[in-house]
Amino acid sequence: MSIADNIKKHREILGEKVELVAVSKTKPVEALEEAYAAGQRIFGENKIQEMVSKWEQLPKDIEWHMIGHVQTNKIKYMAPMVAMVHGVDREKVLKELNKQAAKCDRVIDCLLQVHIAQEETKFGFDPAEVDELVGRLQAYPNVRVRGFMGMATNTDEETVVEQEFASLNELFRKFKAEKDWDVLSMGMSGDYQIAIKQGSTHVRIGSAIFGARNYPI
Ligand SMILES: *Cc1c(COP(=O)(O)O)cnc(C)c1O
Repeated sequence: MSIADNIKKHREILGEKVELVAVSKTKPVEALEEAYAAGQRIFGENKIQEMVSKWEQLPKDIEWHMIGHVQTNKIKYMAPMVAMVHGVDREKVLKELNKQAAKCDRVIDCLLQVHIAQEETKFGFDPAEVDELVGRLQAYPNVRVRGFMGMATNTDEETVVEQEFASLNELFRKFKAEKDWDVLSMGMSGDYQIAIKQGSTHVRIGSAIFGARNYPI
C-alpha cells in the first residue's frame, strides 16, 4: 500500500477522537509530502535538527511534534517552531524549554514522559515522582503541560502492554480532572490498537505508514 493509503486506513481505524502523529523520522521529505497530500498535518520526529530541516522545506501548516529524547543544548533550535514536545523526561528539559520559549515569546505545549515499561532502558519519570513535579510546574510559565506520554514494554504479551497503558491512563484521569489535561500519547505501530482501548488520545505511528526504517532509531 502507498503512504497515502496507509494514512487513510489509519485515519479510519482511529476515528475522530484520536489524533494521528505520523512518525517520519529518518524518512525523506518526499515521503512526508506524500502524507501531506493525503491530508496528514501532524508529523513526529525524534531528532531536533532533522525536524527543523524538514520544517524549513515543507508547508507551514504542519504541526511538528518532538517525540524523542530531548538534548537540552538543542532546544533553542526548535523553540520557534515545535508544536508539542512529547518526550519531557527530566526537569532540566522543562527548565530549558521554558527559557527558550520565553525568548520566542511563546508557550510551548508538552507532555511528561512517564516510565511504565518493565524495561530499564526506557526514559521517563517514575509515576511516583509525578505528583510533586506537577506541583512545581508554575515555575515554568512558558511551558504548558497537557498530559503524559508513555511507551509500553516491547513484548507480544498483550496483557502486559494493556496493563501498562491502563496504569498510565489511570494516572492521567486524575490530572485530567484536576488540571484539565487533554493529551495522552500512547501507542505505536505494534500496539496502538491496545493503546486506544486504554484511552490514548494521540498515537505515534511510523513504520505502519512509511514502511520499515532503513536504520533502527
Ligand atoms: C519511532 C518512534 C515511534 C514510532 O514507532 P513505529 O513502531 O515505527 O510506529 C513512536 N514513538 C516514539 C517515541 C518513537 O521513537
